[in-house]
Amino acid sequence: TEQIEEVKTPKVKENKVDPNKQYNQERGSDKDHLYIVVIGHVDAGKSTLMGRLLCDLGEVSQKTLHKYEQESKKIGKQSFMYAWVLDETGEERVRGITMDVGRAQFETKTKHVIILDAPGHADFIPNMITGAGQADVALLVIDATRGEFESGFDLGGQTREHALLVRSLGVSQLAVAVNKLDTSNWSQERFNEITKKLKSFLKQAGFKDSDVTYVPCSGLTGENLIKPPNEPELLQWYNGPCLLDVIDNFNVPERPVSKPLRMSVNDVFKGTGSGFCVSGRIENGMLSKGDKVLICPTKEMAEVRSISLNDLSSNVGFAGDQVVATISGVEMQNVSVGCVLSDPIQQVPVTSRFEARIVVFNVKVPITKGFPVLIHHQSLVESANIVKLKALLNKSTGELIKKKPRCLGNNSVAVVEIEVCRPICVERYKDVKELGRVMLRVAGVTIAAGLVTDIVTT
Ligand code: GDP
Repeated sequence: TEQIEEVKTPKVKENKVDPNKQYNQERGSDKDHLYIVVIGHVDAGKSTLMGRLLCDLGEVSQKTLHKYEQESKKIGKQSFMYAWVLDETGEERVRGITMDVGRAQFETKTKHVIILDAPGHADFIPNMITGAGQADVALLVIDATRGEFESGFDLGGQTREHALLVRSLGVSQLAVAVNKLDTSNWSQERFNEITKKLKSFLKQAGFKDSDVTYVPCSGLTGENLIKPPNEPELLQWYNGPCLLDVIDNFNVPERPVSKPLRMSVNDVFKGTGSGFCVSGRIENGMLSKGDKVLICPTKEMAEVRSISLNDLSSNVGFAGDQVVATISGVEMQNVSVGCVLSDPIQQVPVTSRFEARIVVFNVKVPITKGFPVLIHHQSLVESANIVKLKALLNKSTGELIKKKPRCLGNNSVAVVEIEVCRPICVERYKDVKELGRVMLRVAGVTIAAGLVTDIVTT
């Protein structure tokens, strides 16, 4: 506390300009950044669709495309060539499924869009959460093929789970690609049949009608992706926007540049000069050269000597930036992965107990009181226990089903209290999204994802 009092100038930065605008100006771009996660049942055509979109937008070089074409011919799965644009590892190619969160980017009229590709296979839900956790908006890909939509949606497929999961992770805007409509000869009847079912479900899942747009398309043929339709059958009944325009129309969330500083440390290492380096993402606010920051949970003051952004020296880093900062005034051994560089006045909460709303999806034995888990919070991993089961909620509506349930099985949504073996820096999800999200793992398996709803003071 003595150290904190030394800081005379309050670090709360006045910011009268629109933070997004300022962010863009500093970045030398007039386009807003938008992070999109792609979700949907396995084989819905997610990879093909995004791959085709990138190719049609000229984001993939002819050389690369040619290479994929040759390779896909060789193994006799030519239709896979577009999917490969997004699938990077050899293993994925052999298995024909997208496993990890790959990244690709493209431009719309007003936006710079970063794709967080999500895998469709059930085993890969933990990876999907990583993607969805960073996403501003989601693209839900639906296989319109007769029988396939039914198995992905009605018969226990992943379409529902994914939609519920992204909603519970805070995504509220959705584009629904009613994909592979080429297989139904662009039938309006089929499109309506599908959208009708989805509409009532998505509403239940907590999406507002006005935040969801349905687009008939084909990732394979490229129909209605970046240009208005060509197909005569589709033209007869559809005059809405193409997928690219729907993405362009999404609202961009505000970047929290003017909020108090939060930078979570994901690495600590020796630099070349005096002091040492910490790297991490600035979640909130901004970090400038010369700033005095509070290292939490140890609560020691440090000074920022220099900042580097993409290997270039910079005077300042903003919310959303991944930076390396050289700091001094604190012992290197007192700073570790999982620490947060915080505004010294408006400090990040430090606690060993918090309440969270969790979605359970992968437990072998039901969760009961005292259940031991590993908490993953940003780059931090700590032992913890689920010490209270406070409420079981309705998965779709969030309404209370039962207070103090005795156990929690797969696919349940619940409010629990978690005790960590030592204090960590957490925020309520509604205050700082990135620091308000946890994953619960047991024996190398992710069993649940959660949002911090309250900090319990002990
Ligand atoms: P993902 O698992 O959702 O990424 O699906 P993929 O992109 O790997 O596609 C699954 C299968 O559907 C592949 O055999 C694709 O060639 C096929 N496919 C993808 N998009 C379309 C489409 O628009 N129309 C048709 N007819 N087939 C498609």
